[in-house]
Amino acid sequence: MGKTHSSHPEHELELKNYRKPYTCDGCKEHGFGKRYRCEECDYDLHEDCMFNKSTTTHKFFKESTFKFKFYDKPPRKCDKINCNECKTYCDACGKHIKGFVYHCDEKGWDLHPCCHNLKNEFKIDGVKFQLGETVSKCTWCNQKKINDSLSRIKGWSYVSKCGTYHFHVYCVMEMVIEAWRNGMANSNDCLALENLELPIQRQLNRNGGRGNKYWRIAKVFLKTIVSILLGDPTITLGSLLVDLIIG
Ligand SMILES: [Zn+2]
Ligand SMILES: [Zn+2]
Ligand SMILES: [Zn+2]
Ligand SMILES: [Zn+2]
Ligand SMILES: [Zn+2]
Repeated sequence: MGKTHSSHPEHELELKNYRKPYTCDGCKEHGFGKRYRCEECDYDLHEDCMFNKSTTTHKFFKESTFKFKFYDKPPRKCDKINCNECKTYCDACGKHIKGFVYHCDEKGWDLHPCCHNLKNEFKIDGVKFQLGETVSKCTWCNQKKINDSLSRIKGWSYVSKCGTYHFHVYCVMEMVIEAWRNGMANSNDCLALENLELPIQRQLNRNGGRGNKYWRIAKVFLKTIVSILLGDPTITLGSLLVDLIIG
């Protein structure tokens, strides 16, 4: 049995699990794996977009009593159409928000529904990763500021307790998109995410000498974040385990 969503009331959306990328018709961001879909209209929603909460909070914000409200598009700040000044950016990934959004009226914070799912803390193979404001250079882009000239947002980063790993949430997603592009160029099929060699692997290999453990933890961490951003935290769990055992 399917369900409808207020953004697509005409038909019921059914849970599908295709191992290929799609664009969510709610938040307009990339997705992979599980999605709620109307076959007739080619309409897809992330699970997080399908079952959006009407209000929510996020632990990242110390004052987590501030509520985020769900909107099907970012609330207008002025009357000008397509006003560049008023473009809405996600505080987590720093990207322009084009559809579904959690918005905090009091503070003006904005989050993509999938970014809202990013946890404050992860532990991978004994290494603790903490979500925070970007304060030092990212391992991937080697910059503090995220590589998106339009936004003034600093974006969130994950930093390991040991200080070895530091990744912008923005860069994690960019890596996947780059990997997809490379994958698409080499093949007509949509490659499954888990088969892709993330570009960070080349980067880390170049840095050299830091050993397999470094790379293994980075890879598991990146895949964990990617699967959340793509709206299906379960999708790579199987392959994550395989990676840990074989990889
Ligand atoms: Zn979505
Ligand atoms: Zn439909
Ligand atoms: Zn404006
Ligand atoms: Zn975001
Ligand atoms: Zn970065």
